[in-house]
Amino acid sequence: MAGLCEGRVAIVTGGGRGIGREYCLMLAAEGAKVVVNDLGGARDGVGADLGPADEVVNEIRAMGGEAVANGADVSDWDQAKAMIDQAVSTFGKLDVLINNAGILRDRMLVNMTEAEWDAVIKVHLKGTFAPAHHAAVYWRELNKETGAPVNARLINTSSVSGIYGNIGQTNYGAAKMGIAAFTIISARELRRYGVTVNAIAPGALTRLTEDLGGPITEERKESGDPKWVAPIAVWLASEESAEVSGRMFEASGNVLAIAEGWHRGPTAKPTKDPHEMGAKVAEMMKTARKNAGMNGMDLD
Ligand code: NAD
Repeated sequence: MAGLCEGRVAIVTGGGRGIGREYCLMLAAEGAKVVVNDLGGARDGVGADLGPADEVVNEIRAMGGEAVANGADVSDWDQAKAMIDQAVSTFGKLDVLINNAGILRDRMLVNMTEAEWDAVIKVHLKGTFAPAHHAAVYWRELNKETGAPVNARLINTSSVSGIYGNIGQTNYGAAKMGIAAFTIISARELRRYGVTVNAIAPGALTRLTEDLGGPITEERKESGDPKWVAPIAVWLASEESAEVSGRMFEASGNVLAIAEGWHRGPTAKPTKDPHEMGAKVAEMMKTARKNAGMNGMDLD
């Protein structure tokens, strides 16, 4: 059976560990040539080491696949550009960019430092924007040159911590919700070139989550296997997914779902009088849907 991504060229950021590693291996197993990006820092983003990216490249080569390592900090503008250029100079083109790299610096709002806020916002938000921008410029030029849709894919990484909200993660959640908006808007902008843009809110047992959610049981290990997350990323990366854009997929061993975006709820006639507002809000609150909890269902 032909691979789903036969001949496609993909970059996976943060591909040296956890979920990104699984994306790289499954993409390669499905015939893609892969640029494995990983800065190789600690969970909080400190440090750098090309080791994790190299290991994944070696695993892919051992399977008979093609891959190269890239050690860029994806939130660095010039390094992000060089990463896109590396894919094109090594494999002749770029079809898929998966923005997956991420770090955590959890803290309650009252205790969070400026550095903890800045680091998380930078890696997730700028680390999504910078590679996406440089890839989009490449795809626009290609579209101009050939006059044909480029059939390319941008896949971003969000989180239920952002789209639904998790205590202790104002920095991370704000970044991940920002990535959700970035996905919807860039999907509308890039459609004209033949690029789809989607996001995944994954759930997996990795170094980011191993100390959250209680003891690591066999059941947790199985439902937390990143192999449950990779299939949606690989399918989105393939040519089969051309009609799907601007969507947020939740994926883990426990759930595969589409998270639906904000919609206007109950309305009232606008007023210039703040004294009238109490009654109007009370009326709207009667039928407004509750916000979702971390399981995506209405909060009690
Ligand atoms: P992980 O720590 O195992 O892997 C993340 C990788 O990103 C690491 O190898 C790290 O070196 C790399 N990275 C960090 N900053 C980088 C940078 N600036 N440039 C390049 N590489 C960088 O974590 P994971 O759980 O596999 O997370 C992958 C993505 O999924 C992250 O965006 C994370 O926020 C998101 N996510 C994970 C879960 C989960 O349950 N594990 C849940 C929601 C969202």
